[in-house]
Amino acid sequence: MELKDIFFIVEKDWYKLQAWATIAHEKDKNEISGLMTAVPQEDGRFKVGDVEILKQENTASNTELDGDAVTAYTMKYGMKYNNPKMKFVWWHSHHTMEAFWSGTDTTEIDAWKNTSFSLALVINLREEYLFRVSFWRMNGLPLEQHIDTTLTIERNKPKVNITSAMSKQYKELCSSPQQVINKWQSGSQAINLWNQHQVTSNQTEVKYGELLEAVEHIQDEFVSGTISHKVFKKQSNALNVQCKNQKLPFRMKVFNENKQELLNIFMCKLPDELIDFDDNNIKNRLEQTSWQNKYGGVYGY
Ligand SMILES: [Zn+2]
Repeated sequence: MELKDIFFIVEKDWYKLQAWATIAHEKDKNEISGLMTAVPQEDGRFKVGDVEILKQENTASNTELDGDAVTAYTMKYGMKYNNPKMKFVWWHSHHTMEAFWSGTDTTEIDAWKNTSFSLALVINLREEYLFRVSFWRMNGLPLEQHIDTTLTIERNKPKVNITSAMSKQYKELCSSPQQVINKWQSGSQAINLWNQHQVTSNQTEVKYGELLEAVEHIQDEFVSGTISHKVFKKQSNALNVQCKNQKLPFRMKVFNENKQELLNIFMCKLPDELIDFDDNNIKNRLEQTSWQNKYGGVYGY
């Protein structure tokens, strides 16, 4: 785990801090400070919470907690969590100023010096912050290191409200590109690609268009002698296996004629005459749609 991933605060507590900062600024144009806990979690992170303000004396550029109040807070939560690994976070607000560590701030941080590490947070009203981890002893050596790192704000999932007006507008304005047809153009290898696309009912038209293209392609290659009768049969079967697997309501017609008879048939047929449909309703609907797509349809010419 990296340092930046260790400390988090829930959104509610983050805005509690912002609320205290806002009150102090609106009432007196003052800073404000308080304490929080940082409690080890099972996943190895520390949860920062228990936001409180304590008895304190504030000015526009300084804030000082009452010593006895600090002791009371640390004893209260020390007993509550009863975990020697828990820490306390000294936090304060710079209201409209930058979030930075002033001289008095670093003096306060030093006052929290211990045998492991301590935590401090400075915020402002623009929700900017610095979150400092101060290491006081590194592997038992008296080496000090201060690192300003991330305090992750764990936000609640926002409530997403899709209105019926939005659904309607989406349907009107948003379209998906037609699937690329030319992937059929390299024979049986391309036919396999087709299989990788799962079909939903509203894709039936698209699939029908693709099958037409594929049939036309096979037809052309067979008639021109580019592929043999055997390959033609193999590719036709492959297409129909795909149609079956995708539960499409149409497939390529199966021909049992010999090669010469087949060539005669194919030379005077359009690709859509080489398709079988489950029923005439589907046939009518798909041929209508296909015709519209080919000749401009609702969007004019
Ligand atoms: Zn400060």
